[in-house]
Amino acid sequence: MIHRRTIKESNFDSVLHPALSNQPARLIIRLKVRLFARDPSVSTITAGLVRHEHLARAMSEVRRGDVLDADGRRWRCRSWLESEFNAFCIKFKKVVELAWNNQLILIPPDGSDPSADISDEVYKEFISVRNVPAHARCGLEIALVPFGNTSTAHALIEAVKLAEPSGHQFHSFQLRLTDEDVDFDRTIDEIGHSHYQITAAHEVGHWLGAPVSITDSGRYFNHVDAASCAADAHHERNADCEYGRTLSKRLAIMGLGTLATEYEARPWVTRAQRHTRVLFGWTVVHRLPFEWGKIPVSARQKRLIK
Ligand SMILES: [Zn+2]
Repeated sequence: MIHRRTIKESNFDSVLHPALSNQPARLIIRLKVRLFARDPSVSTITAGLVRHEHLARAMSEVRRGDVLDADGRRWRCRSWLESEFNAFCIKFKKVVELAWNNQLILIPPDGSDPSADISDEVYKEFISVRNVPAHARCGLEIALVPFGNTSTAHALIEAVKLAEPSGHQFHSFQLRLTDEDVDFDRTIDEIGHSHYQITAAHEVGHWLGAPVSITDSGRYFNHVDAASCAADAHHERNADCEYGRTLSKRLAIMGLGTLATEYEARPWVTRAQRHTRVLFGWTVVHRLPFEWGKIPVSARQKRLIK
């Protein structure tokens, strides 16, 4: 039996759907996102969130102004047309979900390690078919909070419309995206490797942190190697090394790439622990090796499902 099916918190909500016959268990993180259609005619001085919105019905209503990127550079921007903003919102949800879904599989402990205790009742909730190992599929669902709606969202992000394409040179961050960030972008790192990523998916990843105030840095899920970088006294925040100190780390969504790794799975692992009260022994595996049969069916599963 699952201890809690649903958890709602200020950082994100989650639902654990137990396995049914022939239907795997699913652990879904639901992030309510409020995209602000940034009014570019309002102050450019701040790097913090600006909540002034403007949607133009026609080009004659468009306002113009400069908006700063994460490096403090000014970029010429204009109001969104209503139709452009609607299309952007639809694409944002689609590409972010596409980037995060169908990758992460969570394997519950099978009880063979006495320090990772799990009851038969809980273990069974992860078995959908006799010959497929007990598991849960991890998913991300984006719920867009509509324009003008004041209800509480988990993630607050300004969307700016660049007056001219920047060629992905606008340096976005978790509070500010541009119309270019829902398309694949190529980054060439310091040693000359090319990496492809959808910036919106990476920035949404930053919103999968802890349930604290958005003015607290703990709210944001860090870059893949930020913890090892922080141990270095000379490290500058947001420097290139945070995006992965090795090539395999760089491939991660919270690096420069598109791969959901064990690091990206952390928000789901934390929630799995709380949904089930099974605190230890969870294993993360990518969907591909899982489907290739790299994970054996446990002795416990064989005993429980004859
Ligand atoms: Zn980042």
